Amino acid sequence: MTPKITRRESLKLLGLAGLASIASLFAPARGRGSSSGDAAPNVLLILFDTLSARHMSLYGYPRQTTPNIERHAARAAVYHRHYAAGSFTTPGTASLLTGSYPWTHRAFHLYGSVLDSLAGRSLFSGLAPALPAQAAYTHNPLAQVLLEQCAAHAAGLEIVPLRRLALSDDRYAARLSGDYASAFSSELIVRQIDDRTRPASLWLSIPDYFYQVVRFALLNHGWSAQFPLGVPQNRLGAYFTLEEAVDWIPSLFRPANPTFAYVHLFPPHEPYAPRREFASLFAGDGFQPAAKPAHYFRQAEAGQAFLDFQRVSYDRYIAYADAEFGRLMDTLGEAGILDDTIVLLTSDHGQMFERGIHGHETPVLYEPLIRIPLVVWQPGAARRDIHAPTSAVDILPTLLHLLGQSAGGLEGAILPGLGGAQDLTRAVFALDAKQNAKSAPLTTATFAMMQGRHKVVRYLGYPGFADQTECYDLGNDAEELENLYPADPVSITLKDGLDEKIRSVNEAFQP
Ligand SMILES: [Zn+2]
Repeated sequence: MTPKITRRESLKLLGLAGLASIASLFAPARGRGSSSGDAAPNVLLILFDTLSARHMSLYGYPRQTTPNIERHAARAAVYHRHYAAGSFTTPGTASLLTGSYPWTHRAFHLYGSVLDSLAGRSLFSGLAPALPAQAAYTHNPLAQVLLEQCAAHAAGLEIVPLRRLALSDDRYAARLSGDYASAFSSELIVRQIDDRTRPASLWLSIPDYFYQVVRFALLNHGWSAQFPLGVPQNRLGAYFTLEEAVDWIPSLFRPANPTFAYVHLFPPHEPYAPRREFASLFAGDGFQPAAKPAHYFRQAEAGQAFLDFQRVSYDRYIAYADAEFGRLMDTLGEAGILDDTIVLLTSDHGQMFERGIHGHETPVLYEPLIRIPLVVWQPGAARRDIHAPTSAVDILPTLLHLLGQSAGGLEGAILPGLGGAQDLTRAVFALDAKQNAKSAPLTTATFAMMQGRHKVVRYLGYPGFADQTECYDLGNDAEELENLYPADPVSITLKDGLDEKIRSVNEAFQP
């Protein structure tokens, strides 16, 4: 007779013994709400927007930005070469949600959405058979456009409104249900709350501007004891604290109701607004990042002193996010929730403070912009370190696999350490293609391919910077300082491989 083990015990055994057979133990949908030991685990996917792996002490950054993640990583799978598929929220998040690259899902414009055919094959609809109870929250309206699109195909998904965890959210779109994306785009134009747009109505936008200035001056004044640089905000009309989100997250998980929760928090995205105890961290620590030449796509205002100041401000904001993440994990642990919950910590893209470039609105694809964290906790598991290249597109097939569902037919692969094979020769990709039509071949764009220890980057179609190639041996040159193209024969092979990939992904969109 087979000895009976509880769900909690079986999860611990799985963590210790590897996960190859987990699929057979988590039968989809069956037993939801039962206590017979066969229910699915909760899944908590927590995403800190704009968190660059290159700035985390977890991955060797000299400033101690992430001591709490490191403390908790003693029981996690840590992915050291994990890549976003894009360099800003829309493509990065869309690839995470759909398990496909931007050249497939086509959400590569600001406020863009994925092809309808993919919205019905997202993390939410994919996990629904095993985890019908689902919740999603984001501080980031670009991500909310994508969540709303996925929700149209996921009946059990509850999108928690931004204002639920905001001190203030003045967007009118936030009060509308239905076509959120159109409502939000219209609002951006009318109110000019985004600096890329021009006001459609002068008479609406001028009084609205003064209203916002006064309102938020009062708000910041009220919170100045905790946040001397201003209350955290998303630059699009919403103010919030991480504390409120972290206090709320544990309430998503209730016994006998396995839940999938997607929580997408805005920090450490600029404007950098750390809590008081982090506001002068690292001051005068003498840290000097590697000097790098200015790039063709440098920004006029981004001199070295400016970049260094922005960098330390960002590092402080990461330390604030890390402290709140540590508090979240402590709370989940004390409540027993970690005993039957898979937790994934990741980001949608990184951030850049070098080569005359600040931020992530740029065509370049250097490591600080696309290398992001991935740390996965499973009940009872010990620390593993994964050094093979992996991608955000791998999250969906991996979670499907862990929950006993088919993970085939996707561009991503099951992650090594969670049921997949560690393939050090596998190529993963990232791209920036803002300047192309949604349904046309990508001809003015940047593509990066990471394979083995190398990375090759192609710039195509940019006036003044067309048909350019960079290739780095990241194993020897983590700072990407020595371009191996075309002197090293490896760089030519990699360039040809990437060009062939670009040709093949463009084929479906040829007129
Ligand atoms: Zn983002």
